[in-house]
Amino acid sequence: MITEVIMYVVKCDNCGEEHEGSHYSAYSDDGFAREEADGDDWQTDLDDKDYCPKCFLNYSDDDDGEKVILDESRKKENVKADIYKQITESL
Ligand SMILES: [Zn+2]
Repeated sequence: MITEVIMYVVKCDNCGEEHEGSHYSAYSDDGFAREEADGDDWQTDLDDKDYCPKCFLNYSDDDDGEKVILDESRKKENVKADIYKQITESL
């Protein structure tokens, strides 16, 4: 018998890229998925957001409190626009 199961994968909240571990690409436990991503330099569970190492640049600590600095050029919309541009230019 085949049955469906729920698996978890950490996805970058900035670019949408999914973490791929060296052995597994999805996990049966969300906490373990984050632990594995953490081990690969991902910044996980920052106010319930997760960021890949390509997007996460630094923290800033000013009067407003701690803030995450991201590579805005990798934002989902921009990545999609880049892919679209590459496809249309290759035609
Ligand atoms: Zn990212």
